[in-house]
Amino acid sequence: MDNKYLDNIINELKNYDGPEIRLMEVCGTHTAAISENGIPSLLSDKIKLISGPGCPVCVTVTAVIDRLIELSLMENTCVLTFGDLIRVKGTKGSLADAKGDGARVKMVYSPMDSIKLAKENPLMNYVFAAIGFETTTPVYALLIEEAKKLGLKNLKILTSLKTMPEVIRWVVKNGSNIDGFIAPGHVAAVTGGKIFEELSKELQIPFVVSGFEGEQLILTIYALVKMAGKGGYKNLYKSVVSEAGNLQAKEMVEKYFETSDSFWRGIGKIKGSGMTLRPEFMEFDAGSIGLDEDHEPAGCRCASVLVGAISPHECPLFGKKCTPDNAHGACMVSTEGSCYNYFISGR
Ligand code: SF4
Repeated sequence: MDNKYLDNIINELKNYDGPEIRLMEVCGTHTAAISENGIPSLLSDKIKLISGPGCPVCVTVTAVIDRLIELSLMENTCVLTFGDLIRVKGTKGSLADAKGDGARVKMVYSPMDSIKLAKENPLMNYVFAAIGFETTTPVYALLIEEAKKLGLKNLKILTSLKTMPEVIRWVVKNGSNIDGFIAPGHVAAVTGGKIFEELSKELQIPFVVSGFEGEQLILTIYALVKMAGKGGYKNLYKSVVSEAGNLQAKEMVEKYFETSDSFWRGIGKIKGSGMTLRPEFMEFDAGSIGLDEDHEPAGCRCASVLVGAISPHECPLFGKKCTPDNAHGACMVSTEGSCYNYFISGR
């Protein structure tokens, strides 16, 4: 891209002096990329970037962590998880704390690693902590397909899977005054951009599908500033996101999962905002149904941060009792969390 063109856009964004514009990203990778690229420093104070409920670890309720801890303490049972989740606190501490007390908890880099472990250790029962959004659900579907094919009886998943459209509707209807959404590129690669086009029409708010490079994010923000107050939809990530999405991945998800109500940290139940295993595959479920309890650590304001009601700085514990080295709440644990990224980048 012509550097001069980009410079002009940045200049326009820096000098923007119209009504305040509040733009929300709903993808943890966008949250991290915005901080890493120093994007807020390139914008006028009148353009606010707000991190929404797009970090999988941050939106997982405490009941799920408690259930995972319970499982990890059962005889011959090992909980497998991604790194970030291990440090998030439930009501009785985190999986890392439980591990310190002798529980079996193992970090893996891909859900498919659990197949290898289950095959090699037939006397051990494995439970994968299946959290995430539309992006990761196809991998869990593949995991079940493979476990079924191999006849593995010692591998299950505990699901806390979320989907985007309903939580976006919730954020808009519950007064966060959002003027535009940076639509999540990874989610859209699976679902297709069309669902965000439909949301933009329904909610009369602009959506722009974005990639993760600094330049792309600037162009996305510029497009949203121009579209604010008018609505509309754009896909600026066409190299990865088609309007129909990844049909094969969607078929796999459809085969093994069905839409369900889901519980979100700090929000509570949102109808139709999750995915659970279909009844015919419940033999692979490790007790995911009814995990609705959510108890924030004392003083933590994650619930308000996650929906854009306050900025992380407005939490009295931010940078004091709560830092990445000593995270008090989930939004400070994950590298995709709002509080973590505000702290690391000095936003
Ligand atoms: Fe919670 Fe820490 Fe963020 Fe405050 S700074 S909202 S305690 S995660």
